Amino acid sequence: MGKCAVITGASRGIGAGIAEKLASENWNLALCARQDAETGKAQCAKLKEKYGVDADYFRCDISSDSDRENTISSIIERFGSIDALINNAGVAPKVRADILEMTGESFDFVMNINLRGSFFFTQLAARQMAAQRSGTIINIGSCSATVASINRGEYCMSKAGVGMATKLWAVRMAEFGVNVYEIRPGIIETDMTSGVKEKYDNLIAGGLTLQPRWGYPEDIAKAVASLLRGDLAYSTGQVINIDGGMNIGKL
Ligand code: NAP
Repeated sequence: MGKCAVITGASRGIGAGIAEKLASENWNLALCARQDAETGKAQCAKLKEKYGVDADYFRCDISSDSDRENTISSIIERFGSIDALINNAGVAPKVRADILEMTGESFDFVMNINLRGSFFFTQLAARQMAAQRSGTIINIGSCSATVASINRGEYCMSKAGVGMATKLWAVRMAEFGVNVYEIRPGIIETDMTSGVKEKYDNLIAGGLTLQPRWGYPEDIAKAVASLLRGDLAYSTGQVINIDGGMNIGKL
């Protein structure tokens, strides 16, 4: 059996890009999302045919305790090991509301998926990696971990939490030889940003990013592949910004 990478939120956007890139680098894939099994299996079939890897789909709502448990145990049964976990599933708030108007429902919705879901999914995978004494964990965080957007504060807080989760897991898993990283995308062209395309087109044209273009799922996927190849093997716990230089404060 080859090495198995688990990718959450693999159905579209950044997660689908990561799946394609890792398949091209010979990783077997356990793809997780909420789309129906037929669509997920069809995505796997395409990757298997194109790259000759093994791939399977596991329907999983990351905010559900029972889905997470069933998914991790099914993956271990199916693939025998978890060699990489890419925590990518994430949502923006359904409505961008000023923090003076934010509802508890929206706070819970975003936190339950982005922070609680990814943390407890990691916990299950980390127990397996600890037993194996091997593996790599990569959190897909966000530039919003440090940049305050008052009309989606719940998202910013969730991603700031992911930043601490990265450190916590790096500390906890070091004794097992498991490296933990966080990739912080900037502005990436996916469904998540499709509703604010014009706003970001204008900001990018106005110099928000040093490299004057949108990021693409491939930009994130290349960074994930590099980490899984071991290119930054002596850097556990670190944050890799993939944002066209957006994080540099300018005067
Ligand atoms: P996207 O195109 O909206 O895709 C989101 C993915 O997450 C989908 O595969 C979706 O699967 C999955 N997902 C959502 N809720 C889920 C749940 N409850 N359980 C399981 N899977 C769920 O978003 P994206 O832009 O690719 O974002 C991927 C990650 O990058 C997110 O964590 C996001 O916060 C982060 N990010 C994105 C940007 C950006 O500019 N796009 C910037 C910084 C960080 P379904 O098919 O099941 O809905």
